[in-house]
Amino acid sequence: MLDVSLYVVATPIGNLGDITHRAIEVLQSVALIAAEDTRHSARLMAQFNIKTPMISVHDHNERQRVATIINKLSAGESVALISDAGTPLISDPGFILVRAVREAGFKVVPIPGCSAVITALSAAGMPSNNFIFEGFLPAKRVGRKKQLESIANDTRTVIFYESTHRIIDSLEDMLEVLGADRYVVIARELTKTFETIHGDKLSGLVEWVKADHNQQKGEFVVLVSGAEPVETTGFSIETLRVLDLMIAELPLKQACALTAKITGDKKNALYQEALLRKE
Ligand code: SAM
Repeated sequence: MLDVSLYVVATPIGNLGDITHRAIEVLQSVALIAAEDTRHSARLMAQFNIKTPMISVHDHNERQRVATIINKLSAGESVALISDAGTPLISDPGFILVRAVREAGFKVVPIPGCSAVITALSAAGMPSNNFIFEGFLPAKRVGRKKQLESIANDTRTVIFYESTHRIIDSLEDMLEVLGADRYVVIARELTKTFETIHGDKLSGLVEWVKADHNQQKGEFVVLVSGAEPVETTGFSIETLRVLDLMIAELPLKQACALTAKITGDKKNALYQEALLRKE
């Protein structure tokens, strides 16, 4: 017997063998499964003999579905949330629902399993103690380059999701913004038949992907190695992030003045830091 809860259940990202025992048990036992795409998930349900009724919860109806799901929980019935693949809420719907359910006083129970970001990081051979996950880059080039500029000086591994339609454009923009020497790993079709994990400096990587049409197909995780640490004058990561954003948009003095207003740091010290970072 399950406690009355919303269960947030991770499902495989390709290989169905990656589902967990606990995920199957929960999906079989709840009263209702809220799925991103019920037709897509029907295959998973058939594979594991799960006969629980499903309703759709996706980006366009999540707010309306909140009441239905809270009513179900109020009636003493548990609900599971799944997405098309991997962990719900990770570049997938669910945040609005999970927050509302918690605010309504019900338990939210995670049932962990696959997520492409962690799967890729576990095999890429990139520094992993400290990393940032940026989800998908913006679809338009201007926004994409701006976002890349904002992480260009970050010393942590930076991880993106990317689709087959934009992989070349995104890698080309990375080459332009981050430079030819930045080391990047692409993890394609993880856990599936054509799984490929390949790393190189951006100059070589862009050529490699362009040269082989097969390497442009499928789903991608892109892992960018962090920038070489620059000598700094001891500011917090948040101050440096704001400063980098300002430097990218404004003349140096103005960038430092505005950063000082936002972060409360000293303008002159920020100017010394800005000079170092410009170098
Ligand atoms: N919730 C999912 C998770 O936990 O990973 C991510 C969903 S997001 C809508 C889909 C994106 O995740 C894909 O475009 C791709 O960037 C990444 N992805 C999902 N499955 C993948 C796989 N098998 N190999 C590589 N990337 C994958």
